[in-house]
Amino acid sequence: MAILLKIFVLIVSIFAHLIMAIRITNECINCGACEPECPNNAIYEGGIEWAISDGNTVNGIFTLEDGTEVDAAQKNKPLEPDYYYIVPDKCTECKGFHEEPQCAAVCPVDCCILDEDRVESEDELLAKKARLHL
Ligand code: SF4
Ligand code: SF4
Repeated sequence: MAILLKIFVLIVSIFAHLIMAIRITNECINCGACEPECPNNAIYEGGIEWAISDGNTVNGIFTLEDGTEVDAAQKNKPLEPDYYYIVPDKCTECKGFHEEPQCAAVCPVDCCILDEDRVESEDELLAKKARLHL
């Protein structure tokens, strides 16, 4: 019985340290309130190209989370054409800056939600923040 309890506690503690990135759903009303709140400049208006170096001092070759190497200043295709979107490679869920995701805090329609397909640990998010803010 004791071993089962230990396993349960271990599983709970693991999940307690897993954090999900944030994504914007198509319920976005394009109010723009979230964009200036992002400490990582990870939020873009629909149809606008994004770059790793927007809003920071990163330059040269930057390795994305999927292993792709890009020029940090390279302009990339918008991830959404019609409404605001978050670049996952730039979102740290505000770790290192704020206690809670600022986009979700200001969104009037609560369309900044956890991205269940992108689970990252706090350590991973803090490492991402360090790479974006040299
Ligand atoms: Fe930016 Fe924070 Fe929202 Fe991520 S959670 S997009 S870092 S405001
Ligand atoms: Fe869209 Fe919400 Fe951002 Fe407004 S605050 S642009 S509704 S995601």
